[in-house]
Amino acid sequence: MKANIVIIGGGISGVAIAYNLAKKGMKDIVVFDDNYMSGGATGRCGAGVRQQWGTKGNCIMAKMSVDFFEKAQEELQYHRDIEFKQEGYLIVATNQEEDEKFTRNVELQNSVGIPAKKLSKEEALEIVPHLNKDVIVSATFCNTDGHLNPFLMTDAYFVAAKRLGVQFFCREKVNEIIVENHKITKVITDKREVITSKVVNAAGGYSYEVGQLAGVDIPVIVRTMKY
Ligand SMILES: Cc1cc2nc3c(=O)[nH]c(=O)nc-3n(C[C@H](O)[C@H](O)[C@H](O)COP(=O)(O)OP(=O)(O)OC[C@H]3O[C@@H](n4cnc5c(N)ncnc54)[C@H](O)[C@@H]3O)c2cc1C
Repeated sequence: MKANIVIIGGGISGVAIAYNLAKKGMKDIVVFDDNYMSGGATGRCGAGVRQQWGTKGNCIMAKMSVDFFEKAQEELQYHRDIEFKQEGYLIVATNQEEDEKFTRNVELQNSVGIPAKKLSKEEALEIVPHLNKDVIVSATFCNTDGHLNPFLMTDAYFVAAKRLGVQFFCREKVNEIIVENHKITKVITDKREVITSKVVNAAGGYSYEVGQLAGVDIPVIVRTMKY
């Protein structure tokens, strides 16, 4: 098998990259996931969508994402609602340091067009009356934030990318990336060999391991929690 590009990972990143490359006209795109599409972190996430960040880059990317999510069903011609609910996102400050940082963050967010607001403790309690009154100092709130169904969003990209000719293979692990003279020549999975010169590492928490297949050190560290 030959491919112009092999994408490793079928989470939201890999599937969205596949769609966007195909939309730009790239042909022969292949995506492998060792599990199923959205079987990694994407399918386990809290589904929260927020634009309330503390760096300009993150704020701009989050705003662009929200602008996209608002019209994603139409753009991707998806047959279902992706369940993007803009019901707002409240972030609580519990000490003076956070309160001051949140004031600066809201100024930054407003400067790039994100309609976040700084709220007093009383205003926060009006939105969520069950908050612990003894702990809150203040809060920030953005009414265009909310939540989105990660399975449907991934599926919407998946269906649109397939329509544009992308090939997806589930339950197929990439075991080797062959590099010759500093160039990728082949990807070997547990089922086939693919001749290619380009690989996208969209393996999320496994990016370090996938990078190692090509001799690249990627500083992604997986942390596990003990319950
Ligand atoms: C508990 C939790 C809560 C979260 N809550 C939120 C939230 O509320 N809002 C938010 O925006 N983000 C949240 N996140 C973060 C979000 O889930 C991730 O940022 C996002 O899903 C990453 O997507 P991804 O496509 O990069 O990775 P993944 O979804 O992990 O996809 C990577 C895929 O690569 C596959 N893979 C790995 N190695 C190989 C290989 N060798 N061959 C083939 N396939 C391979 C894996 O099986 C996996 O399916 C949360 C994450 C967790 C864990």
